[in-house]
Amino acid sequence: MLLRQPGRPLEAAEIALPRPGRDQLLLRVECCAVCRTDLHVVDGELRDPKLPLVPGHQIVGLDESTNMRLGVPWLGWTCGVCGFCRSGRENLCDAAKFTGYTLDGGYAEYTVADRRFCFPIPDTYTYEEAAPLLCAGLIGFRAYRMAGDARRIGFYGFGSAAQILVQLARADGREVFAFTRDDDAAAQQFAREMGAVWADGSSTPPPEPLDATVIFAADGTLVVTALRNLVKGGTVVCAGIHMSDIPSFPYELLWNERSIRSVANLTRADGEAFFHRIASLRIETRRTVYPLDRANEALADLRDGRLVGTAVLTM
Ligand SMILES: [Zn+2]
Ligand SMILES: [Zn+2]
Repeated sequence: MLLRQPGRPLEAAEIALPRPGRDQLLLRVECCAVCRTDLHVVDGELRDPKLPLVPGHQIVGLDESTNMRLGVPWLGWTCGVCGFCRSGRENLCDAAKFTGYTLDGGYAEYTVADRRFCFPIPDTYTYEEAAPLLCAGLIGFRAYRMAGDARRIGFYGFGSAAQILVQLARADGREVFAFTRDDDAAAQQFAREMGAVWADGSSTPPPEPLDATVIFAADGTLVVTALRNLVKGGTVVCAGIHMSDIPSFPYELLWNERSIRSVANLTRADGEAFFHRIASLRIETRRTVYPLDRANEALADLRDGRLVGTAVLTM
């Protein structure tokens, strides 16, 4: 499925089998989970995608030459020599390339990926179960770690990432407070079923102030809302790649060592830490499966908030 121009639907197309370059593998794609970032690419909110582009960066596939099941994440390549790469922050690499944005991704039957950036898929997960782990899991985990040792943690937007992180948070003995679109009773019910101790619309304050909050939704007004509901010294983590403008707010809301930060991309070390962390857990996700040629429908369902859990494309 090809993006020829942002703002237009993807087109089904026959393209040449990609040829692996140096350090790359050819993978037969089994599934690719849909991420909100895909929407930002398709809708033109992220600038300068490769065009035409095969979107998708939560790829699980098979290296047919070795029979290895591999996952391909958002971080597709880094330079290895810039200051960020050499200080353990390859997520900020000046020259980084991103799967399904500046590199072709996984809305396709085959893809190529740099073997050094792929992750082996644990045997305990099917392809379909593993796909949401590749971004919602990995980058979600980076955001979750930025929340420090918060005991009461809020998630604004209860979708693909939050449904995974709530399970980690519970295993870590924390309480999750889930905020959804107002009146989205289905999402609130879903959050409770997945382990949130409380779920309500985002305009409803939580029963007590929170130690940290992770914002997955793309609505900048939520940053101010989250600050209002935060204890002294607490952190608001913005986990998305794109957000609408943050309205001005009184300094008093930030005072007392509250902080706001963003989380960008992932490092390979995040991925290793994530798969190590979940080795003793069984991460369950709710998924809606679409065949590849219905990718536009999956994107529309995510855009319009009709989706509960994660959309997964199968080939
Ligand atoms: Zn670099
Ligand atoms: Zn993503």
